Amino acid sequence: MGDQRVDVISQLRAAIKGQVITPDDTTYDKARTGFYGGFDARPAVIARPVDAADVSAVVSIARDSDTELAVRSGGHSVAGHSTSEGGIVLDLSAMKALDIDVQGQTVWAEAGLTAGEVLSATAAYGLAVGFGDTGSVGIGGITLGGGIGFLVRKYGLTIDDLLAAELVTADGQIRQVDADTNQDLFWAIRGGGGNFGVVTRFRYRLHPVDMILGGMLILPASPELIASFVAEAEAAPEELSAIAMVMTAPPMPFLPPEAHGKLILMTLMVYAGDIEAGERAIAPFRALATPIADMIRPMRYIEMYPPEAEEYHPVAASRTMFLDSVDEQTAALMLEHLRKSSGQMSVTQIRVLGGAVARVPADATAFAHRNRRMMVNVAALYGQPDEASVHEAWVSAFASALAQGEAGAYVNFLGNEGEAGVRAAYPGATWDRLARIKAQYDPTNLFRLNQNISPAVDAVRPGESDGAAT
Ligand code: FAD
Repeated sequence: MGDQRVDVISQLRAAIKGQVITPDDTTYDKARTGFYGGFDARPAVIARPVDAADVSAVVSIARDSDTELAVRSGGHSVAGHSTSEGGIVLDLSAMKALDIDVQGQTVWAEAGLTAGEVLSATAAYGLAVGFGDTGSVGIGGITLGGGIGFLVRKYGLTIDDLLAAELVTADGQIRQVDADTNQDLFWAIRGGGGNFGVVTRFRYRLHPVDMILGGMLILPASPELIASFVAEAEAAPEELSAIAMVMTAPPMPFLPPEAHGKLILMTLMVYAGDIEAGERAIAPFRALATPIADMIRPMRYIEMYPPEAEEYHPVAASRTMFLDSVDEQTAALMLEHLRKSSGQMSVTQIRVLGGAVARVPADATAFAHRNRRMMVNVAALYGQPDEASVHEAWVSAFASALAQGEAGAYVNFLGNEGEAGVRAAYPGATWDRLARIKAQYDPTNLFRLNQNISPAVDAVRPGESDGAAT
C-alpha cells in the first residue's frame, strides 16, 4: 500500500467519529459488497460517517488528497458506482436517524436508511412516502434519481414528495436546500443523482397510506394480454399503480408446475384507496384471463415489502427506456426476444406512469421524462461475469428493437452506457442546466462515480449567481 493511502487512512481515523474499515479488517469484504454481483472493486478504505460533520471531513480528505470517492447509501447501484478500486467509499449506512412529524405528516430521514426501514417506521402511524418496489434499496440513490414505485400514479415520483435536504458539497460545506434555500441545488438533486454532493438527510412529505388492496397477479403472457394489461393500467384510476414483468416463470411454490419455464406476466399492483373501489379497479385485470395466481388482497402497505435474501447478488445486463405505447406488435416483440435469451432469468418490466407524475412540469425538477407514458426496463440476470458479452449483445439488440420516439433513460436503471446514456437521462435543457450547477458546486468533478454530468466549461464560478436558478 502506498504512503499516500496510509496517510489518507490515518487522516480519516483522526478526523471522523465513525468507523474506518481497511482491507485488514474482518468486516472489509462484507462492507465492500453491493447488491449486484459482477463488481469486485477493492477500495483502499471504507469510511462510515455518523453525522454531517464526519461526511464533510471525508469529502475534504478525498478532495485534498485527490483520492477517488464513491458514495454509498443502500449499495444497489446498477452501474456499480458505489464502490471504487483503490479509493474511498463513503458509506452512509451508519446514518439511520429518523424523525417523524406525525401531525405535520413529514419525516426527516438520514441517508443511510433503506426504503424498507423508513416505511416500517412510518407504517406505525399509517403514513408512507412512495419509494420503489424493493425495501433494501437505499433512500439515497432512489431519491436522487427520481423514484418510481407503487404510489407513482397517485403521488408521483419520490422527488415529488421531497421537501428539503441537507447536503455536503465538494468544498466541504454543509448546505440546507429546499424550495426557498439554494433553489438551484434543490432542483438539481431531484433527479440529478449524486453529482452535486453527499446528501446526509432528506425531508419527505408523508401520505396516509395504510390498508391498501395489493399484491401479485400472475397471468399467462400473450401479445393480446400484455397489450390489454397495459391499456387497463393506463385507464385505471390513479390510485392504482402497476408494475408488469414479462418473464419466464420461476419454479415458485405458488405457481403450478405446468407454468414453470413458460412466459408469464407477473404483475405487482397497489390500489392506494378505498378497498371496495380497489376491487372494482382490479376486476378488469382479473378478467383478462384465468389468473395463474391471484394473491391480490387487502393488506397493509408495508406488506408490499417482504423480507429479502441478504446473500442474493445477481449479475445483470440491462437497458432502460421510456415508451409511449405497448400494442400487440410491441408485446409480440418482447416475447420474441425474451424467448431468445440464455439468461438465468430474463425480464421486460413495464411501469405505467401518468397521473401525478405527468402533472408536474417537465422542467420543475431534473427528472425530464414527465410526458412519457411508461418506463420500461429489459434485463437478463446471469451467474458468471464472464458471460457478460452474450447477455450485453442480447439486451442491446432487444432495446434497439423496442425503442420508440426520443431516446430516454431512467437514470436509476442506467448501467455503464457512457455519456450517450447519461444524456438520454438528461436531455437538452436539463443537461445544460445541470452542467452549469455542477460547474458551480463541483468544478473539479470530485463526485464523478455516478451517471456523470461534466461541469459546464463556460459556467459561472463559485460565489457568482447561476442565472438559471429559480
Ligand atoms: P447506492 O449504490 O448506494 O447509490 C447509488 C448512487 O447514488 C451512488 O453511486 C451515488 O452516486 C448516489 N448516492 C446514493 N446515496 C447518495 C447520497 N446520500 N448522496 C449523494 N449521492 C448518493 N428504482 C426505482 O425508482 N424504483 C424501483 O422500484 C426500483 N427497484 C429496484 C430494485 C432493485 C433490486 C434494484 C437493485 C434497484 C432498484 N431501483 C429502483 C433502482 C435504484 O433506485 C437505484 O439502483 C438506486 O441508485 C439505488 O440506490 P442505493 O442508495 O441503494 O444505491
